[in-house]
Amino acid sequence: MSANFTAFLYLISAVCFIMALRGLSSAATSRTGNICGMAGMGIAILTTLFSPIVSTYGLICMALTAGGFVGATIAKNIKMTALPQLVAGFHSLVGLAAVCVAFAAYFEPQAYGIGFPGKVKTLSLLEMSLGAMIGALTFSGSLVAFGKLQGLISSKPLIFSGQHIFNAFLGAVALMGVLLFILTGSLPLFYLITILAFALGFLMILPIGGADMPVVVSMLNSYSGWAAVGIGFTLCNNLLIITGALVGASGAILSYIMCKGMNRSILNVILGGFGSDTPEIGSALQDEQNRAVKVSNGEDAAFILHNARSVIIVPGYGMAVAQAQHVLREMADLLKTTGVNVRYAIHPVAGRMPGHMNVLLAEANVPYENVLELDEINSDFSTTDVAFVIGANDITNPAAKTDPSSAIYGMPVLDVGKSKIVLFVKRSLASGYAGIDNELFYHDNTFMVLGDAKKICEDVMKGLKSFL
Ligand code: NDP
Repeated sequence: MSANFTAFLYLISAVCFIMALRGLSSAATSRTGNICGMAGMGIAILTTLFSPIVSTYGLICMALTAGGFVGATIAKNIKMTALPQLVAGFHSLVGLAAVCVAFAAYFEPQAYGIGFPGKVKTLSLLEMSLGAMIGALTFSGSLVAFGKLQGLISSKPLIFSGQHIFNAFLGAVALMGVLLFILTGSLPLFYLITILAFALGFLMILPIGGADMPVVVSMLNSYSGWAAVGIGFTLCNNLLIITGALVGASGAILSYIMCKGMNRSILNVILGGFGSDTPEIGSALQDEQNRAVKVSNGEDAAFILHNARSVIIVPGYGMAVAQAQHVLREMADLLKTTGVNVRYAIHPVAGRMPGHMNVLLAEANVPYENVLELDEINSDFSTTDVAFVIGANDITNPAAKTDPSSAIYGMPVLDVGKSKIVLFVKRSLASGYAGIDNELFYHDNTFMVLGDAKKICEDVMKGLKSFL
């Protein structure tokens, strides 16, 4: 295959990736987007396999078989609720790959056509040092994110005094190391840059609290894209550069959108440790632990819902855990047949990944027009009879508006408390992912419907049917 034809096929594959991003921007076109992405990746792999630079297929076949097998097994078995940590795990691998490629290029520059040991082109030294730096940072940062999301590390911010200054110092030393490395090509400096970036990744993500993890995951997604760009430059592979830039830029845009949605500063996310100035999580609500709550059950909830004219359903992570979306949709359909106006309210960080609730509701065939984003529906709670909060917690927590000492202060929340009645479906009075008590549980118009989300929906269905 000629180099020109290879470049042409790479271009087609890059266009497919752009169309994939376009398609994935809306639930209605996301399947087409996915198909475009798969087609692009298929073309990219085949083109690379048949390009003139490939001299032997043995190792490539082994890597493809092993990677394909591991990937397919994980994809088949992974639970939807564990996707964020899987994504974080995959990001760490991209980071590690960038570090490995940079070191391979340093030790065998002739294999990459960038010079000879001890005589590597200056531009290539810059590419490999930045690639190794971003890669190492992405690797360790993603490992911490994985640990936090998997529950292996506390989701509370881990802070020490002078953290930001120390991080800034490490970053400055690493950048100076890059500068000196370009001038000298010294191996100890190359190790130093990598180790510093590795430490920086840990230190930047550890102080980030649970509620802010969505932004971190998308930011690490962006970092992994830029790490891939670094690999692309080292390997002189245009497609890798374009794809890495697409991932890097789209991840950065998503982080920006999420920061805006959560009322956070993008600069703080990039530098790490935002939200860490908040001293004690939920401290303002400690004394409310012993307050009384109104506990209800599926049957009572059915009665309340049957008598309502308007209902807004607020799904959260617990709905995903319980896989309650199908029975929830059946319950909503039943209510609609009795003339109740039923809509769904989606918070931008509900669940554990961007678009988590949209995916689950689409899977249960909930009509798109009934699913409304926070901005579109938040003002309607005050004129709504019942807010049916199912497996959601942090995204409804008024502490985000009322308690400046709270780790989620400033984050927009769904104003469910403004409805006439709030039905809170969850298993206990436990806090959500951010570890903050929710004072809504103790409000006069709140009924706690305690139990597994799916089981409660089934009970409500039974109750509703008995009224027909
Ligand atoms: P939360 O984690 O705040 O609350 C979920 C609630 O669901 C829990 O309080 C839990 O209470 C309940 N629950 C769990 N299992 C069940 C079950 N089987 N049946 C019924 N209830 C159940 O989730 P939210 O969706 O409200 O908020 C998302 C949080 O996750 C935010 O803090 C967000 O920042 C964070 N996050 C979001 C990401 C994203 O991209 N969307 C990524 C990473 C983090 P109980 O144990 O009492 O049942």
